[in-house]
Amino acid sequence: MSNLRKARARFFQERKMPEVGSFFYYFMKKADRLDELSAEELKKEAEWRDDHSNAEYISDALSELIRMSPDLWKASARNVFVGLVDAAEVNATAWRTDKDKAIVEINLQFLLVLRDYVIAFDEFGAGLRKVGADISEGRLEGLNDKIALLQEATEENWNALNLASEEWARPDEIHPGTQFLEGKVSAAREDVVDRIVPECIKFIVGHEISHHMLAHLTNSDNKRKLASKVLREVGADTDLQSITLGLPREQADEINADVISFLLCAGYFTEGAIDFKTLYGAQMGAILTLTGLGHINGYWETDLADSHPGIIRRANAISAVTRSLTSQMLLGPHRDHPMELAFQLESYVMLAQGYWGTHKASYSGPVPQFADYVAQTILTLPSLRRNLSAK
Ligand SMILES: [Zn+2]
Repeated sequence: MSNLRKARARFFQERKMPEVGSFFYYFMKKADRLDELSAEELKKEAEWRDDHSNAEYISDALSELIRMSPDLWKASARNVFVGLVDAAEVNATAWRTDKDKAIVEINLQFLLVLRDYVIAFDEFGAGLRKVGADISEGRLEGLNDKIALLQEATEENWNALNLASEEWARPDEIHPGTQFLEGKVSAAREDVVDRIVPECIKFIVGHEISHHMLAHLTNSDNKRKLASKVLREVGADTDLQSITLGLPREQADEINADVISFLLCAGYFTEGAIDFKTLYGAQMGAILTLTGLGHINGYWETDLADSHPGIIRRANAISAVTRSLTSQMLLGPHRDHPMELAFQLESYVMLAQGYWGTHKASYSGPVPQFADYVAQTILTLPSLRRNLSAK
């Protein structure tokens, strides 16, 4: 039996789930809700089967990631099985398994929260860009009112996210996304939100398979050799080594898994120059997923005794890698640049931590100074553009 088939069989056996039929079918059947599906849907879901996963959108993410893997990894990446389970903790895990069986498990609750953090960012980013355009084109009248409106909308969203995150953090029950944020998606932005959510899923799957590819879970000499070869290559283009310097091994492994996943999603290992659109997707996939994790679990700061580094450190690592990858890039076709998005995303993480803190009595970290973040982000845009045009 191939390693993939062994991994697949082991997953279903361990989780006591049927090997044929999609996860959705399994979930609806367990909830006694199969009658909500049409006859056609029912047949499709009951018969759905894929070698690599039990959910179609995970299979899609996985085949993208395999395509974008460095050539020396492709063969082992094809052997990873990624299963979705109906667990309520916002989490995903790469299993420590014997020999070359590589299994990744993703909890349904993790995937259900992503859309809300994507929607909240989409609205925040669009607001920033609008105000930024006003400033750079000299339309200063009524600017304060526009910023106040943006702040109000942002606060409203984070209030909804704060409330929902208490449900999402419960380890015993699965909760769907918020209706509140869903209701805010305009028809024009629906497509954008639909495109970003799969980027988040890709980042999660990429992070977990990177644990396997980087030999974090095995003693295989061959995998270790391939891992250090790829890390050396990445280290030559980025500050990866200095980013993880001084961290305990488990925390350095987490950062490395984040960065490799981000680079996979960004198309770093594929031939040719990185294109802006792919990079934008990777930036949002990584940072929005990390923001959601931080906001729900509250692990913002790094404690060296913990198994995972804090979310701020993880997000900063992605920003630093983005910076080194793009410092030589000129403006894109729409006079855009990946660092603009990086600044917006950095502000978004800071605001998330601040709004999270306003709900916790014991919190003593930074509190959102909305105008400061906005000013910093917006001021960066026109000056960044000028500097790049001057190159
Ligand atoms: Zn991890």
